[in-house]
Amino acid sequence: MTLTDDQLDRYARHIILKEIGGAGQARLLSADVAVIGAGGIGSPAILYLAAAGVGTIRVIDHDAVALSNLQRQVLFGTDDVGAPKAEAAMAAVARLNPDVKLIPINARIDADNAGLMLRDADVVLDGCDNFATRLAVADAAQKMRMPLVSAAVGPFEGQLATYRGWEKDKPCYRCLVGAAEDAPERNCAETGVIGALTGVMGSMAALEVIRALVPFGEDMAGRLMIADLMSMRFRTLSVPKDPACPGCAAELCAP
Ligand SMILES: [Zn+2]
Repeated sequence: MTLTDDQLDRYARHIILKEIGGAGQARLLSADVAVIGAGGIGSPAILYLAAAGVGTIRVIDHDAVALSNLQRQVLFGTDDVGAPKAEAAMAAVARLNPDVKLIPINARIDADNAGLMLRDADVVLDGCDNFATRLAVADAAQKMRMPLVSAAVGPFEGQLATYRGWEKDKPCYRCLVGAAEDAPERNCAETGVIGALTGVMGSMAALEVIRALVPFGEDMAGRLMIADLMSMRFRTLSVPKDPACPGCAAELCAP
C-alpha cells in the first residue's frame, strides 16, 4: 500500500515514530477491528481508532443514543439522541476521517452470532456493559485466535487486559473469570460512573488495539491493569493461564 500525500500529512506523527513508521501506518489502514459497544469505552476508542486510520471499524451495538449517555459518550452529540448508536458512530467517524470505513451493526452480539459478526476481524475490542456478552465475545475470539482487548469500568475503577489465550503461556478471558455464567450484573445505569474514567479506559483500549495491529512494545496479554481513579493509582497484576480452564481446553481440542 502506498500512502497518499494527504495520508503522509494526516498520519505524520505516527509515521515519524520508529515503532510505527510508514509500514505500520499502512497496516493500520488495511486493518479491520470490531468494537463491541459504542458506549463510554467504545466512544473514545472508536474516535482514536478512526483518527489513527484503522481502515475498517465494525461497531456492534443494538442501542440508541440516550441523553444520559452524553455525560461520557463523546462520540455523540445532542442531535444524535434517539438515533441508533452504530449509525451515529458512522456519521461521527465520517466527519473525522474519510480513510475509515465504519460498518454499523445495529444488533446484539451473542454466543450464536458472535462467530459471524467477528469473522475475519484482526482484533476485537470489547467495551460492552454486561458479562454474558463479554463471555460470548471472548469465547468467539479465543476460537478464532483473534486478540481480544477487554476494558471495563466501575464507578471509579477501570480494568484493562488483552487476551491471546490460544498461546500456550497466555490466559484467555475464562482463565480470569471461570465459567461463572450467572455472575451478578451491575451496569453504569445502576452504579453511576465518572465520565472521564471511561475516556481513560477507552483510550488505553484503543492503544492496545493499535499495538496489536502494528505491533510494538509489550502488550497486556497475561496481565490485568487495574486503575483506581479514586486514589489515582494504577496497578498491574499477573493473570496466569488456568490449567483447568474450559476455554483453553476447548481451544486445544478444537479441530
Ligand atoms: Zn483459559
